[in-house]
Amino acid sequence: MLALSEGSAGYSYAIGGSGAVSKALEKAAKDLGVKIFLNTEVEKIIIENDRARAVKLKDGKVLEARAIVSNADPKTTILKLVGQDFFEKEFIHRVKNLKNEGGQAKINLTLKGLPRFSCIDSTNIGEEHKAYVGMAESVDEIVKAYFRWRFHEIPERPPVYSFIQSAWDHSVAPPNHHTMSVLLRYVPYTLNKGNWNERRDELMQLFVSIYEEHAPNIKQLIENYEILSPWDLERLFGINSGHVSHLEQTLNQLLSFRPLVGLSNYRLPISGLYICGAGTHPGGGVTGAAGHNAAMIIIEDLKKSN
Ligand SMILES: Cc1cc2nc3c(=O)[nH]c(=O)nc-3n(C[C@H](O)[C@H](O)[C@H](O)COP(=O)(O)OP(=O)(O)OC[C@H]3O[C@@H](n4cnc5c(N)ncnc54)[C@H](O)[C@@H]3O)c2cc1C
Repeated sequence: MLALSEGSAGYSYAIGGSGAVSKALEKAAKDLGVKIFLNTEVEKIIIENDRARAVKLKDGKVLEARAIVSNADPKTTILKLVGQDFFEKEFIHRVKNLKNEGGQAKINLTLKGLPRFSCIDSTNIGEEHKAYVGMAESVDEIVKAYFRWRFHEIPERPPVYSFIQSAWDHSVAPPNHHTMSVLLRYVPYTLNKGNWNERRDELMQLFVSIYEEHAPNIKQLIENYEILSPWDLERLFGINSGHVSHLEQTLNQLLSFRPLVGLSNYRLPISGLYICGAGTHPGGGVTGAAGHNAAMIIIEDLKKSN
């Protein structure tokens, strides 16, 4: 999280967890007079006379604005919140073709102790507990997982990444207990056989079987867990196809191609309407960069229209 936030290579962790970043932003925004509405779903972005005029909330309330910016993913913003009728057919075709086929699943765990790794065994919190741990036996194994994902199958051995927040931050778990988050890579959104409601538990079995090859005590440590398949990420966070970076981060969808050629300046082809967030340049991760860039463009446009 907050990759490269201090100019050094690697990831940073916010004390208190990712929510602490949101809380800090909330405080800074409120100090500037910003109003924040939580748990408030936008149903539609209202377009009148080729201009974005307002957002209509699910409870029917309408909020008017001179500029509207969405950090929902590009497909949700364009196809669902605005609607296909407001764009050229060719443009909608390009948006529908954006690649965002799931890709990751998450497992959140609480543990009643620390995993003990066969290769490096610390009794207390060691470097291996503080590290962002990645598990994959070989590049071939990763490539095999990629191809399973590509053909909508759950990989036999997905790359596993884990991080123990409580190894850094005692505020997130009681003494001698720990929180761990796990990412399984190359997990498809669409499955060839069955669906995620039926097959969600397979992700937990895969995680345990791979992890215990390196940390044999993992199974006995698990107190509680929550499995988030790509379907769950879509449902919980409103991300089309549950892609953690909103869109795949392939060369054809990065830099000035993100989300599409012609849209990398955060302006949608409707006056007063902007897009930011992970589906825009520079992509996924808690960096705030896309929001910052979009804000600069909006300020520029508002100044011109004054
Ligand atoms: C499981 C997982 C693990 C991750 N791990 C890391 C990590 O370790 N480090 C890291 O840097 N990044 C990580 N990421 C990526 C990072 O979280 C995202 O790139 C980042 O949150 C994107 O921020 P955003 O504001 O663009 O979009 P989001 O955080 O997706 O925010 C979009 C918001 O729009 C809201 N929304 C959608 N539709 C509507 C609507 N109709 N009305 C109102 N609100 C709506 C959603 O509820 C959501 O709150 C992870 C992502 C996931 C899902």
